[in-house]
Amino acid sequence: MQPRSRPTGSDVETEEERDIILAGGRVFTSAASGAPWAEALAIHGDRIAAVGSSHELRALFPDARRIDVEGRTVLPGLIDAHNHLLATGESLSSVDVRSPDVSSIEDVVDRLATAAEGTPSGRWIGAFGLDDAKFPRPVTRADLDRASAEHPISVNHVSGHGCVVNSAAMAVRGIDRDTPDPPGGQLGRDAAGEPDGLFLDAAMQLILPVVVDIGSHGPNFHTELSLEDSVDLTERACTAFLEAGLTTVCDPQVSRRELAAYREARRQGRLPVRTVCMPLSHQLEEFRAVGLAGPFGDDELSIGAMKFYADGSLISGTAAFTQPYGEHGEFAGLLFHSDDELEELLTAAHLDGWQVGVHVQGDRAMTTVVDILERAIRRAPRDHRHRLEHAGYPTPELIERIAALGLITVNQPNYLRDSGDEFLSRLGERAHGLEPLRAELDAGVAVVLSSDSDVTSYRPLETIRNAIARRTVSGAEIGADQALTLEEAIRAHTISAAYALRMEDRIGSIEPAKLADVTVVDGDLEQTPVEEIGSLGVWMTMVGGLVRHAMNPPGI
Ligand SMILES: [Zn+2]
Repeated sequence: MQPRSRPTGSDVETEEERDIILAGGRVFTSAASGAPWAEALAIHGDRIAAVGSSHELRALFPDARRIDVEGRTVLPGLIDAHNHLLATGESLSSVDVRSPDVSSIEDVVDRLATAAEGTPSGRWIGAFGLDDAKFPRPVTRADLDRASAEHPISVNHVSGHGCVVNSAAMAVRGIDRDTPDPPGGQLGRDAAGEPDGLFLDAAMQLILPVVVDIGSHGPNFHTELSLEDSVDLTERACTAFLEAGLTTVCDPQVSRRELAAYREARRQGRLPVRTVCMPLSHQLEEFRAVGLAGPFGDDELSIGAMKFYADGSLISGTAAFTQPYGEHGEFAGLLFHSDDELEELLTAAHLDGWQVGVHVQGDRAMTTVVDILERAIRRAPRDHRHRLEHAGYPTPELIERIAALGLITVNQPNYLRDSGDEFLSRLGERAHGLEPLRAELDAGVAVVLSSDSDVTSYRPLETIRNAIARRTVSGAEIGADQALTLEEAIRAHTISAAYALRMEDRIGSIEPAKLADVTVVDGDLEQTPVEEIGSLGVWMTMVGGLVRHAMNPPGI
């Protein structure tokens, strides 16, 4: 990485070589052994040189530049093991209609109308995060027509499985009542058979042309985007991540669209956050043809696990549970592959040496996946680090098996807050068993916290807050007995996340010889009431010893 924003003093040349001591607050190290808290750390070049008391480090590094964090909490650089980097960049350049800020159809229309005012006529307006399950009725084309008749508008559903558009968008794409439902997709229609503006699953491709054919390997959001725009959006997302304290992200659904963007961003020196890619499973054969399996790459950009989908999403009612859910048991679940096909894919990947990450929500899908992975691991045991993405509803029996097999759960407690009220009404008692992180830790499972940005907020301090608080937007408790402590939540967002990325020897804790990735929270984390943790800012973010974000240029 280029030293673009290294803090510099009067003499730039010597500053480059000068050691740094961070002191004056509390340092949580996430180290596996020894005291988890320290007073100070010293950085030499891109590495952590020592951890200890201010006094000791002063003696060891008498010429070091001292950065006084003034009572703030210092953490290992935060790692988001499930974060759609490029998609987040795209969302940052479109209209945010996520709840709770947007809580009614009128709010949606208002936000889009405001965006239309500042957008030249005829240009597309995109929006993301629509969760109209929270509204009295779904949003339709007629609602969006009130926002603008001159701009094509497309509003993506929060689940990623559907979008709603206005009449202008349908006209641009040539869609009318005679347009048939494409295979694997559906157009919403009113009582008279007219399209109501809703496009589900494969039908979304009628609106936004996708550039990668992923078959039935998951939801397809790989839409057309120039390389130049992809690099801009990637950098924009990275800047936001650094401001939020993230130093490493793992994109859990990478096609050639994403990998090309990240390679080019890196080549141009515009990828300041360490990036791990999980290629989507539709590419397994191509990787096999060239003999490639992750981990492959370096500490800045690499290929990690391969991503597979088992079932659908909790929010859109397509997670596969043993007992169908919904107020009327209407959600039976959706599976992307037959059990045999999934077994063939996962086994081939395991035997090829891949670490796999399987999207799995309901207990029915999870049982299938754990069965398959158990057979594959028995056949060829190794340090596999296989991941269960989301791992929504593991039963106590599944938790024992997950622990015994050494599977990692990659969780997103933001869902418990954002959609917890719907989960409580749709799943009843079972909602309290979603993401049972306490039970998983007690059983010995490697528990990882992540965001699934842009589906939920990428801000790790919000994720940490939600893992500790386990409260819904309305304030209801959801599985309160499964709450993590602050220290457990930080570990799950640092060293355990590094373990899931096979990078725990280089990042994830503040220990000598590790890369100097450091996040300084703008406050004292231990003294902050849980509900306020999510609104704390990040004072400084360092990646490899370089200051990549500073709230106020630190006192140096
Ligand atoms: Zn995801």
